[in-house]
Amino acid sequence: MLEIKNLQASINNKTILKGLNLTIKPGELHAMMGPNGSGKSTLAHVLSGKNGYEISGEINFRGENLKKVPVEERAQKGIFLAFQYPLEIPGVNTNNFLKTSLNSIRKSKGEKELDTLAFLKLVREKSSELGIDEKILSRQLNVGFSGGEKKKNEILQMKILNPSLSILDETDSGLDIDALKIVAKGVNSSRNDKKSFLVITHYQRLLDYIKPDFVHVLSDGKIIKTGCGELAEELEKTGYKKLT
Ligand code: ADP
Ligand code: MG
Repeated sequence: MLEIKNLQASINNKTILKGLNLTIKPGELHAMMGPNGSGKSTLAHVLSGKNGYEISGEINFRGENLKKVPVEERAQKGIFLAFQYPLEIPGVNTNNFLKTSLNSIRKSKGEKELDTLAFLKLVREKSSELGIDEKILSRQLNVGFSGGEKKKNEILQMKILNPSLSILDETDSGLDIDALKIVAKGVNSSRNDKKSFLVITHYQRLLDYIKPDFVHVLSDGKIIKTGCGELAEELEKTGYKKLT
């Protein structure tokens, strides 16, 4: 699914990722942990195709080098990023935003676009599955949403767009336990042998609800340790300092 080789990324003359290697196979869920400032969000941004980074190394997604693939095409190809800090976009209705995003992906695959009715049916089904209040969908995108509502909205987006690689950047941070369970439910109900996940998290707490196949520790732009679920528990006790 995803193969990253010796990835280096710089922005504003600062090198953030310093030779990162990572392979994620179909069906796998990888957790990426690491202290603040280690480069987790930068990795998420670079994978999603955000502009402004100087990149070297290779990112292959389903066998295709992503180097020249712009952000919207990456989304169409099945890469989804749930932002650490979802943007508030005044004037853009959440439902319309979701519908436009979904239809742009469907169109790129040669599938028929969903009309308003069919789309609403899908949104209702997915929000009720997750236990998300539909009311937020008629509001402007993320405007005045609480921290938890923003994150739940990202997960709803993931459910609706149905990506093959989902990257969740600290979707768990700042959530109360009920919202955390909604996020976990969104991920767990999407897992299958064809889909992959990169779950970036600062805390082990989320991994009580989402069981990773692999846990990596990122420090100063490099993966310094890889293990299974127990590694996260170990880190919770010892902290990152011991490893760095
Ligand atoms: P994390 O998500 O692991 O906390 P980030 O990827 O957000 O880390 O940031 C890694 C480091 O890169 C931090 O020291 C941060 O200040 C720096 N950084 C991130 N974005 C920029 C930028 N646009 N310009 C300069 N430095 C940046
Ligand atoms: Mg971050």
